Amino acid sequence: MSLYEYKLDASKQDFYNITPQVREAVSKSDVTDGIAVVYCPHTTAGITINENADPDVVRDLLFALDQSFPDRPEFSHSEGNSAAHLKASAIGSSVTVIIEGGKLVLGTWQGIYFCEFDPPRSRKFYVKIIGKE
Ligand code: ZN
Repeated sequence: MSLYEYKLDASKQDFYNITPQVREAVSKSDVTDGIAVVYCPHTTAGITINENADPDVVRDLLFALDQSFPDRPEFSHSEGNSAAHLKASAIGSSVTVIIEGGKLVLGTWQGIYFCEFDPPRSRKFYVKIIGKE
């Protein structure tokens, strides 16, 4: 049972591929059969799994999120970043991935992404590995 913390310099609104860090955490933990929980402790960023082959997919997702959650003059939150809070809640703050045979069970086209919606920020995320060695 291990908890790993990673830092991430999020300079712009983007999906940052953190699959290598999650694989590293699994490898360090020596867990061969279990789950990895990837968790973001921020309110204007999130974690998701999506396509890692065609970068146009991430571009389209960001475009659609901007269209779906525009900044609105009716918003009350004084920090002025309610659109980023909405995007973060829509995406969610964690994903769970199965570990089998010491490896993440991900589809061929899947990558794990840290999603930044209120840049620039110094961020962190956690990977909790639960299972048996
Ligand atoms: Zn805020």
